[in-house]
Amino acid sequence: MKFYNFDIVFQEIPDEVSLAVNITNCPNHCPGCHSPHLWEDTGESLTAARIDQWMKDYVPMVTCFCFMGGDGETEELWRLARHIRQRYPVKIAWYSGRTEIPPQPERGLFDYIKVGPYLQEKGGLKAVGTNQHLYAVNAETGALKEVSLRAR
Ligand code: SF4
Repeated sequence: MKFYNFDIVFQEIPDEVSLAVNITNCPNHCPGCHSPHLWEDTGESLTAARIDQWMKDYVPMVTCFCFMGGDGETEELWRLARHIRQRYPVKIAWYSGRTEIPPQPERGLFDYIKVGPYLQEKGGLKAVGTNQHLYAVNAETGALKEVSLRAR
């Protein structure tokens, strides 16, 4: 699994400061994609050691680690999410481009999951009538609660 870049962001997950990593080799190929450079299998390897370095540099300023993509390599994504969960006091989010919530290997791996490919005619997560949805995951029950990113 490789990544193109990372950024500290404030709007992807409400009330969290997220370290968001843009993962490459995206298999979804949504027409009108805002980041077609993420389709290629290029970039720096996303490893546990790389995550450890980010955590050393940015926690506690950062309160959430956000995987932006990773649909093509879910086993590796889960392995890295477990690595974070076992070591760091941060929330973990996954922005997937799949239509349905991807199967989870265990409860409590992600605190937030966003699903839905980008459809130009429906707009992004903040658009009225969007096909994309962000859910908070109850760690104990696995129940999902939709979270709105529109102005509150
Ligand atoms: S999931 Fe995101 S990065 Fe991948 S093709 Fe769709 S809009 Fe582009």
